[in-house]
Amino acid sequence: MSKIENLELLVVGGGPAGLSAALAAANYGIKVSLAEEREFLGGQLIKQTHRFFGSEKEYAGTRGIDILRKLIDEVNKNKNIEVLLSSRVLGIYEDNVVTILNDHKMKKYYPQSIIFATGASEKFLAFENNDLPGIFGAGAVQTLMNVYGVMPATNVLMIGSGNIGLIVSYQLLQAGVKVAAIVEAAPKIGGYSVHASKLRRLGVPILTSHTIKKAIGKEKVEGAVICELDNDWNEVKDTEQLIKCDAICLSVGLTPLVDLLKQRKVKTTYVSELGGYVPLRDENMETSIKNLFVAGDVSGIEEATAAMIEGQIAGLSVAKRIGKNNKKEIEKRIEEGKNELELLRSGPVGKKIRKGLSKLGLNHGKNYNENFSEEALDISHLMKTGVPSEENLKNKLPSEEKVFDKGPIAISECFQRFPCDPCVKSCPFNAISENGNINNIPYVDFEKCTGCGICVSKCPGLAMFVVHKNFSETTSVVIMPYEFLPRPHKGEIVKVFDREGKYLCDGKVIRILDGKFQDKTAAVSIEIPKRYYLQARNFKVEE
Ligand code: SF4
Ligand code: SF4
Repeated sequence: MSKIENLELLVVGGGPAGLSAALAAANYGIKVSLAEEREFLGGQLIKQTHRFFGSEKEYAGTRGIDILRKLIDEVNKNKNIEVLLSSRVLGIYEDNVVTILNDHKMKKYYPQSIIFATGASEKFLAFENNDLPGIFGAGAVQTLMNVYGVMPATNVLMIGSGNIGLIVSYQLLQAGVKVAAIVEAAPKIGGYSVHASKLRRLGVPILTSHTIKKAIGKEKVEGAVICELDNDWNEVKDTEQLIKCDAICLSVGLTPLVDLLKQRKVKTTYVSELGGYVPLRDENMETSIKNLFVAGDVSGIEEATAAMIEGQIAGLSVAKRIGKNNKKEIEKRIEEGKNELELLRSGPVGKKIRKGLSKLGLNHGKNYNENFSEEALDISHLMKTGVPSEENLKNKLPSEEKVFDKGPIAISECFQRFPCDPCVKSCPFNAISENGNINNIPYVDFEKCTGCGICVSKCPGLAMFVVHKNFSETTSVVIMPYEFLPRPHKGEIVKVFDREGKYLCDGKVIRILDGKFQDKTAAVSIEIPKRYYLQARNFKVEE
């Protein structure tokens, strides 16, 4: 082993939190060493081909893989950051001495500060035959498809309807893999409703209050037996059904990777809302051990946007402590980061995180009014099925039918309160509003809307449509978002579907906007018989 090397800041983990932490500190002159155990940076971002929700400030509307490119570019340009790839942290000892294995050589480091951004691991599920080949974690499926270009199977049963399960199901469909069904043990869908709705439009069943009993197959997965669950999570008799599939994908949650922190005797506690054992830490992300900080999933499972902000807060906190200049400015930026986190966590979907953080003694969500109804709309049907109710739809449509007579107008099919605003920010006519709070439901001002269709490509949830009811005497046109290959061509006749993926009619493609601006979410105008203008919300190109 070589002699001990002194460092200012060691960041462990090159995912979104680690990269953000390294940049935040390095930008204030701190010398940072960033250790990543893999041979490339990026963590989960490398396989995230979907656009992010959240606020514009934190890359909302940008695909995870593109966020990663920007972060890596900034890291590479920053002379204060040294990147150590294929560098596995093996241990952390008294006085924060760290050992790192690289190229079969072990090196000892003595950093003044450390930020752990080690992320999380996937949870597994107990059921009969769960060791058959063909049973994957969702992360493995995403890595196979999006990093190595390998199709994991031809027909997948997804277990779990959190955002990861829903996103990976959509990406499987994009790769040409059938998704037999999404099975969810809870009585409601765990992820965002817009993700669930786009899968339902594509014809994927979502079975809430169901669970997997066993995998079927001799050498590999050939199917699965699922059953219904009652309100007490017990099996409902005679509800077993066989689902044919050649792979089962488990997306049943993540758990923070705190092993190294435990080795250093950082105080941890079990918080189910945050995914398992999490380190005790303060608002500046410092743990019970002085100069040892955390950021991202290792401090509690949350969205990547929150992980990046936490990374910035941790990096800035180190800069404030060991840097020499700009203390006031750094303090201001830390406060801005905390306010941003506060806002992201302040709506109904942040309730679980707020509860978890309160168990760590952190009073997040101060601005949240607990008396405010959980949802502005009753979305119980939507969260059970992925399909909006008649009432939900009525709420978003113009109150007077004659509004449709003025020309094309945008219809937002986004009914859940969660932090997201690219639709609002994208509209050049200020026709979409969330009433000043990113957690509110977006509404279209039909007076201002010109039907330009810009928001159709900019919404990460594919929840914006433009409807031109009176396109002709007998036909309407609906502009729909489209993210599949092959793309349709102008004049092509396509199959048109409703919100449950049921065939409605044939439609004619009359325009495709699919340039750099649309960034792979094409806006396709489909002409359909007029009677379907309120139902037509998806189409398929015949292979
Ligand atoms: S269609 Fe155009 S004008 Fe209407 S809400 Fe969308 S972006 Fe704004
Ligand atoms: S409609 Fe707006 S708030 Fe809803 S998912 Fe799309 S961009 Fe986000």
